Amino acid sequence: EGAIRFEDVRFHYDAEREILKGISFDVPAGHTIAIVGPSGAGKSTISRLLFRFYDVSGGRILIDGQDVRDVTQESLRHAIGMVPQDTVLFNDTIAYNIRYGRPDATEEEVRAAASMAQIDRFIETLPQGFATEVGERGLKLSGGEKQRVAIARTILKAPPILILDEATSALDTHTEREIQAALDQVSRNRTTLVIAHRLSTVVNADLILVLEAGRIVERGTHGDLLASK
Ligand code: ADP
Ligand code: ADP
Repeated sequence: EGAIRFEDVRFHYDAEREILKGISFDVPAGHTIAIVGPSGAGKSTISRLLFRFYDVSGGRILIDGQDVRDVTQESLRHAIGMVPQDTVLFNDTIAYNIRYGRPDATEEEVRAAASMAQIDRFIETLPQGFATEVGERGLKLSGGEKQRVAIARTILKAPPILILDEATSALDTHTEREIQAALDQVSRNRTTLVIAHRLSTVVNADLILVLEAGRIVERGTHGDLLASK
C-alpha cells in the first residue's frame, strides 16, 4: 500500500511560467525516493501536488493505481503524512499536538510515539508563546524539537506514504543525528518521498531523482549516479 506514480506531470502556478515540465516516476509501495536539486527546481511543488494542495495542469498522479483527483481529501490525509520543514504547533500541550495525527490514539500510544521521537520528557507542557489559563509560561522549543513533535505525530498516524521535507536550517550535528534516527524509524515499511538535502537519506534511497528547472535530468540509485560522473 502506498505506491506512487507520476505520469508526465505538468504544472504551473500562474500562466507565465511552467514549473514542472513533464515529470514521470514510479515508487513501488514501501520504497524510498529522494528528490534533489537546486532551490526553485520544483521539489516542494511535487509534494504539494501529491497532497493535492493544487491540481496538475497536465498528466496525472496515481496512488495505488488511483488518480488523486478521484480520492477524497479525507482519504488523502489518511494516506499521506508530512513532516514539514517548519512545524506550526497548536495552542495546547505537546501531547495534544502529537495526538492531532490520530485523535483516537490511547495515552500509551502517544507516549510511545513521543518516546521514539525522543520528546517524551516534556509532552505535558505547552509550547512557549501560548497563553495558559494559569498564566504559566510555556516551554521554548528549538527548531529540532518542533520537528520531533511533527515526527511523533506522524509515527502515531502511521500513514502508508510519508513526505519528508528536510530542513536546510542549521541544526547541530547531534540534533540532526537524533532526528535522522527518528525518521529512519518512521519511514520503515512505508513509501517515503524525501525532499532531500542531507546525504544520508540520498544514500539510502531506492531511487534518486535529480530535478532541475522542472525537469528530471538524472535518475538512479546513489551508485548509478556516482558511476555516471
Ligand atoms: P524547490 O522545492 O525545488 O525549492 P519549489 O517547488 O518550492 O522549488 O518551487 C518551484 C518554483 O515555483 C520556484 O520558482 C518558486 O518560486 C515557484 N513557486 C512556488 N510556489 C509558488 C506559488 N505559490 N506561486 C507561484 N510560484 C510559486
Ligand atoms: P522553501 O523552498 O523555503 O520551502 P517554498 O518554495 O515552499 O519555500 O515557498 C514558501 C511559501 O511561499 C509557499 O507557501 C509557496 O507557495 C510560496 N511561494 C514560493 N514562491 C512563490 C512565488 N514565486 N509566488 C508566490 N508564492 C510563492
